[in-house]
Amino acid sequence: MIPSTSKRFSEIRESVQKLCQDFPGEYWREKDRARQYPTEFVQALNEAGYLGAVIPEEYGGSGLPLGAASAVLEEVQASGCNGSASHAQMYIMGTILRHGSEEQKRKWLPGIASGDLRLQAFGVTEPTSGTDTLSLRTTAVRQGDHYIVNGQKVWTSRAEHSDLMLLLARTTPKEDVKKRTDGLSVFVVDMREVLGQGLTIKPIPTMINHSTTEIFFDNMKVPAENLIGLEGKGFKYILDSMNPERILIASECIGDGRYFIDKATEYSKERVLFNRPIGQNQGVQFPIARAYTAIQAASLMVERALELYEAGEECGEQANMSKLLASEASWAAADTCLQTYGGFGFAEEYDIERKFRETRLYQIAPISTNMILSYVSEHVLGMPRSY
Ligand SMILES: Cc1cc2nc3c(=O)[nH]c(=O)nc-3n(C[C@H](O)[C@H](O)[C@H](O)COP(=O)(O)OP(=O)(O)OC[C@H]3O[C@@H](n4cnc5c(N)ncnc54)[C@H](O)[C@@H]3O)c2cc1C
Repeated sequence: MIPSTSKRFSEIRESVQKLCQDFPGEYWREKDRARQYPTEFVQALNEAGYLGAVIPEEYGGSGLPLGAASAVLEEVQASGCNGSASHAQMYIMGTILRHGSEEQKRKWLPGIASGDLRLQAFGVTEPTSGTDTLSLRTTAVRQGDHYIVNGQKVWTSRAEHSDLMLLLARTTPKEDVKKRTDGLSVFVVDMREVLGQGLTIKPIPTMINHSTTEIFFDNMKVPAENLIGLEGKGFKYILDSMNPERILIASECIGDGRYFIDKATEYSKERVLFNRPIGQNQGVQFPIARAYTAIQAASLMVERALELYEAGEECGEQANMSKLLASEASWAAADTCLQTYGGFGFAEEYDIERKFRETRLYQIAPISTNMILSYVSEHVLGMPRSY
């Protein structure tokens, strides 16, 4: 296996690699064919305590810094597994950690840390607003000690395999807010209480096995005590959790890149044509070497973003750039790996085509490449806002 650039959390990295050995390609192929959620894998990660790694010890977690979550997800991907079934929990919970009340933390975090309570669903994207989050139309209207939620979400991944959902909804009409970022609020929805009673979940078949869904709210009741922080300030809270999200997705892409480079390198040494390994041809070597170089560079940016984040410093620039660089580098590595395998890359049994499909997602979700370039242009380089 190509080693990580990072020297941190080497014990965690080793034990994640070991855990992943119990979930070989055949396991993932089977899940992919049947479009099934990898319950056993998520359970194993939970039992090992990885999904509660960043929850403080006082709430039952391991109290580790974000770098530990990054190490876990990178190694999961580098081992050929797929962390997308459970990665959201590691960054969604940041909103509760940073903005939840003490009572809310005590209510939810210990269960999440022990694995008894799953917080895997994140309801932000809507069919009509897409990337333009401030135009979302789902409303939450206060009625006594409840909010009544109406509207629709799309691409709410893992909703069928989660107990809780972090939901962003409009509590003040757009035309009535002074600041355009005000008027949205964040709620923790206990989906077990409202499924079939105002909440409908419909799976969306996609090119990858991602358990994603569309969700419909029809007068769904959410207790007012499930509002996180202040009403109307939800967009800010969600933005706060975006840097860790970018960093963790970038870490997964680095893991994917290591997987593809490893596979391509090994195959190029074994496959003999014209009386020599194909890897002896520079036309085969150079794209692999280039992909490796790009992954190494992106990995350094992930480390830099983590360093700033963990020191409590501003890291928006580095978090965004690490996600951009890593998602492009993992895609280049995927393409190179497929090319190295030739026709065999298309055969399911080598897992390349599956990982190829899976890693493509990260140039679109959770934030598309253009939006990152837009952030860098406007917020880092000071160019005029374009939208
Ligand atoms: C498998 C999968 C899982 C997902 N999981 C979740 C989830 O769990 N929770 C959730 O809330 N969302 C989820 N998403 C949604 C994801 O975050 C969005 O797909 C993504 O943010 C892009 O939004 P969109 O698809 O509506 O594209 P659109 O917003 O319609 O954009 C389409 C294209 O236009 C480009 N574009 C738009 N505006 C501009 C502009 N001003 N300048 C330049 N380019 C622009 C975009 O970059 C993009 O390439 C998931 C998506 C997928 C595919």
